Amino acid sequence: MHNFLPIAYFKNQFVPFAEANLSIATHALHYGTGAFGGLRGIPDPKNANQILLFRLDRHCQRLSNSAKLINYELPADKIQAIITEFVRKNKPDQSFYIRPFVYTSGLGIAPRLHNIEKDFFVYGLELGDYLSADGVTCRISSWCRQEDRSLPLRGKISGAYITSSLAKTEAVESGFDEAILLNTQSKVSEASGMNIFLIRNGELITPGYEQDILEGITRDSILTLARNLGIKTVERPVDKSELFIADEVFLSGTAAKITPVKKIETYPMPETHPITDRLKAKLTAITENLEPDYRDWVFPIALQ
Ligand code: PMP
Repeated sequence: MHNFLPIAYFKNQFVPFAEANLSIATHALHYGTGAFGGLRGIPDPKNANQILLFRLDRHCQRLSNSAKLINYELPADKIQAIITEFVRKNKPDQSFYIRPFVYTSGLGIAPRLHNIEKDFFVYGLELGDYLSADGVTCRISSWCRQEDRSLPLRGKISGAYITSSLAKTEAVESGFDEAILLNTQSKVSEASGMNIFLIRNGELITPGYEQDILEGITRDSILTLARNLGIKTVERPVDKSELFIADEVFLSGTAAKITPVKKIETYPMPETHPITDRLKAKLTAITENLEPDYRDWVFPIALQ
């Protein structure tokens, strides 16, 4: 069970989390016609009266884009103002995760996006490591990542997570920690809720947007960071067999941060992963606002 933050934003106001409840007839619950965000915050290690949110602007913009894809206009600056107030009201004292959600909130049946009420809520929970920090084992899923012609992959559409859920459970129930999904062209796409990177001969490689990936904000941060560190980055199609012979493989995401992969199917990865470790250390320092060159990625929120 999670420790939820005490206050939620629900139906245009801040209410106790336990009072933010929906009807069983809520349209989005039946049709997956919602979209969500997910961002992390930490208490500022240098200032007890301040919270640090990582790339708040990018997360709000992505959610606004997702909202647009389900026929709902919700400006990014409005989302940003509500999330800022949400954090001030909750005053979290641990590492936490914020889950904003846009959805068809009207009641009743018939799948559609037009002519149905939409709404927006936000809740949060305390969140330490989402995946084991020392590494995970991965299975290549029998489920494929969807294609953009079936649903808008540039949005973080809740209905799409049936595939992630199937893949994750298949992996865990067959003895692995996480799933890697191929796309319909049999190229590597991403994990159940993370993007994927590999390192070969000192180059950092990751599938490009055309491989049906989510526009991961951690992925974008890692690519920029690596380039600034002088590491060559390449966005290109990746075959699953290339993962098996990579020097390092890691997963990236807001919840998972940077998580090394120890084994894929029957293929163990090398035990040391120096580039993964270097990127992870740097990203951690950035989120703690200890890297002056990356201050524009960190949004401090004063609590008083
Ligand atoms: N892919 C999927 C399917 C995800 O759910 C996530 C988590 N949001 C990611 C990738 C990573 O995205 P981000 O780095 O923005 O959290």
